[in-house]
Amino acid sequence: MAARHVTRGLLTALNGTTGAGLLVALATRAKIRRGRHGVLIAEGYRLPIPPASCFTVGSVIVTRRSAEWLLDEQRRELFEHEHHHAKQYALLGPLFWPAYWVACGYSYATTGSWGARNFFERRAGLKAGGYPTDLPLRPWLARLTGPSASRSRNRPSGTPSPD
Ligand SMILES: [Zn+2]
Repeated sequence: MAARHVTRGLLTALNGTTGAGLLVALATRAKIRRGRHGVLIAEGYRLPIPPASCFTVGSVIVTRRSAEWLLDEQRRELFEHEHHHAKQYALLGPLFWPAYWVACGYSYATTGSWGARNFFERRAGLKAGGYPTDLPLRPWLARLTGPSASRSRNRPSGTPSPD
C-alpha cells in the first residue's frame, strides 16, 4: 500500500473520525469489509438518512449496498470520490463536519443542490459523486450578481470559462 494511503489511514485513526465511522457501522449493524487503499467499507447500512447510496466517515465508507458492489470496476469513480472525502477527513479531523455542513448550506442556498457548489463535493468530483455539474445559480441570485457574474465569478471579466 502506498505511503500516502498509510498516512491517511493513520491521520483519520488519530483524529477520531475513523472511530466515529466504525461507531456508525456498529450502531446500524453494517458489516465491515476491506476496501481499497486501506479504506474500510461498512456494507448494508439501512437508515433513511442520508439518502445517498454511500457516505464516508473518516476512513470508513458506509454504503446501503455491498462492499462487492462498491468495489466493482464500474464503480471505481464513485469509490475514488468517497476515498477523496477520507483524505479530507485526514486533513480536517472532526472539523470536517461543521465545515461540510456550511458548504452544503451554501450550495443549497445558491443552487438548490447540496453538492453543486459544495467545496468538498467539487474537490471529490461532482460527476463521480452523482451531483449535477452545470447547475445555474438560483434566479434571484443570478439577478443579484448580474448577467456576467453568474458564470465567471472569481475570474477576470472577458476570460473564457474552462468549465
Ligand atoms: Zn461526496
